Amino acid sequence: MTPDEENLLRRAIELAAAAREDGNPPFGSLLVGPDGGVLAEECNTSLTDSDITAHPELKLARWAARELDPATAAGTTMFTSCQPCGMCAGAIERSGLGRVVFALSTEQLGTLKPPTSPSSFRQEGPALFDEARVPVEGYYT
Ligand SMILES: [Zn+2]
Repeated sequence: MTPDEENLLRRAIELAAAAREDGNPPFGSLLVGPDGGVLAEECNTSLTDSDITAHPELKLARWAARELDPATAAGTTMFTSCQPCGMCAGAIERSGLGRVVFALSTEQLGTLKPPTSPSSFRQEGPALFDEARVPVEGYYT
């Protein structure tokens, strides 16, 4: 990682501190374009927005998918204060962003907070294949 990239990561950590000061979980992220310029910044606002999906990485992935062409998105780097969670990683993949640089790993974050309970919902399926495939068939061709 270059000194410039370390400074961008420090900005993500500053945004995490700002999120905490605003009453939200302490996470922040920014998106940097292919030329090294900052395109957008976000803080976690899940508590003040009463929105469990208001993670900064997800907000930036949604912004990128709306505002950037695929080639530009692929040339961007997200700098984020913590390794993206599963929800955000899925959104980052769908948005076509090219690279993520994080400060704390998920494992390191785990040493700083109480343990979370494992997923509690059940999934059942597959079922009704002949009916469920009808609206999908031909869509992707
Ligand atoms: Zn997340």
